[in-house]
Amino acid sequence: MTELTAEVVVAGAGPTGLMLANELALAGVDVQVLERMHERTGLSKALNLQPRTAEVLDLRGLLPRAKDRAFATVADGHFAVIPIPYTGWDTRHPYQLGIPQAEVEATLEERLAEQGVKVRRGHELTTFTQDAEGVTITAGELRIRAKYLVGCDGGRSTVRKALNMPFEGIEGQGHGVAADVLFESAPPGAPTQWRSMTNMVTSGSPGKFIGVIPLGERNLYRISFGDRLNRPRNLRAEVTPDEVRAAVTERFGEEAGIAEIRWASRFSDDSRLAENYQVGRVLLAGDAAHIHFPAGGQGLNLGIQDAMNLGWKLAAELRGRAPAGLLETYEAERRPVAQQVLDNVAAQNALIPTNPNQLALRALFRDLAAIPEVQHRLSGMVSGLNIKYANEDPHPAAGTRLPDFPTRDGHASTLFHKGTWVLLTKTPQPKPHKEVLVAEVPELPYPDAERLLVRPDGYIANTTGETKPWLT
Ligand SMILES: Cc1cc2nc3c(=O)[nH]c(=O)nc-3n(C[C@H](O)[C@H](O)[C@H](O)COP(=O)(O)OP(=O)(O)OC[C@H]3O[C@@H](n4cnc5c(N)ncnc54)[C@H](O)[C@@H]3O)c2cc1C
Repeated sequence: MTELTAEVVVAGAGPTGLMLANELALAGVDVQVLERMHERTGLSKALNLQPRTAEVLDLRGLLPRAKDRAFATVADGHFAVIPIPYTGWDTRHPYQLGIPQAEVEATLEERLAEQGVKVRRGHELTTFTQDAEGVTITAGELRIRAKYLVGCDGGRSTVRKALNMPFEGIEGQGHGVAADVLFESAPPGAPTQWRSMTNMVTSGSPGKFIGVIPLGERNLYRISFGDRLNRPRNLRAEVTPDEVRAAVTERFGEEAGIAEIRWASRFSDDSRLAENYQVGRVLLAGDAAHIHFPAGGQGLNLGIQDAMNLGWKLAAELRGRAPAGLLETYEAERRPVAQQVLDNVAAQNALIPTNPNQLALRALFRDLAAIPEVQHRLSGMVSGLNIKYANEDPHPAAGTRLPDFPTRDGHASTLFHKGTWVLLTKTPQPKPHKEVLVAEVPELPYPDAERLLVRPDGYIANTTGETKPWLT
């Protein structure tokens, strides 16, 4: 038995666990990352970064690396496959970045290694116990004593189950299959570049859908298909090549020749949310805390943003500079965001027609979605740009994300690369606290504000510059 100590153990090196480990390492926290699998799968899974996730990565200087690995920039998002532009938002990133999940993970793991943290692969967390001072974690022959454990171990989370945490929600009726298919030549009528959500999904008979996204490599496509009304008895059964061939033939006809099925997996339309995100010294993040149908492309994005919210709070708690109750705001802030995503996914599901009444409803909704105010509301939800955390400062900007804006030396986002608090001020200010970076700027995005105190995750704490409620 190998015995180790750490301040935080992160279980799971998916996008959520890797982002969290990066945030903790940036704050100087001694973090150990346990990953069940011996190697990264390289599976494409999620294909997009939403605007807020692009902003979040930009706050840490990671966006250029992600862009280098991306295969598309998509001008709009979608709600129930009705294209929704992001143009009404004050953001430098009003687009979806087309990037496979494996490449997001590679980007985050590369940065983590640069920070001196190596993922412990082939180490599956099996059990843990917690007491007043810490958590003892067992992963095979490894035992780690830590101050905190965070379960970032996906939808079937061992950590969540060991906590006996209720994971309630909606049991879906249907299912889907995602497959990366290499064709012998571009299938007839298929787009060669992913530029918009338009025409990416078609529906055959009621309840059925087929989506086609070109993955940037010649003749390689993501084919997503399924049935909203039926599911196989065993949702974990391997996808057969015949199932994929049948869907391809239905969409493109007999002449579409498949050269290789690179990867195929089933997903369900179940929707569930953990009752709590924290029990003592054990926390949950990402799919371990919430699962839903991948409508609108939000799951990975939600997980990365959970990690961004939790990292600095956990670090502050460990360094003894967190005011009472700060760590609890992780659940208070992030659980409602996940609930909102689950609700919008349920609404999107209801707009995929399975009968004539729903067809009419969808047509009406499509008309309504063309109204700019409606578009703004929908795009805010799906992009993550509309998030506003509870805040006592009455200024409407307090609790919202800081829009990136030009400063004397570039853009405000670069001030956040070290993961500290930032005080943006139009007039000279003394440093209010040793943890705060003070930056004098000629203008602020809100003309009526003289200064903005901004949290390490890029949300505006207040317009007074007062650090007391946040930093002890
Ligand atoms: C087909 C499909 C398409 C999708 N498309 C999109 C999309 O377009 N956009 C989007 O935003 N989201 C999408 N999603 C959702 C997205 O993939 C997930 O939300 C995302 O993977 C969640 O990341 P995570 O790190 O929380 O969990 P995971 O990615 O599941 O990572 C969990 C990690 O924990 C490891 N692990 C599990 N148990 C243990 C243990 N006991 N000990 C140690 N390690 C453990 C696992 O091996 C895994 O590496 C899609 C999902 C699917 C299935």
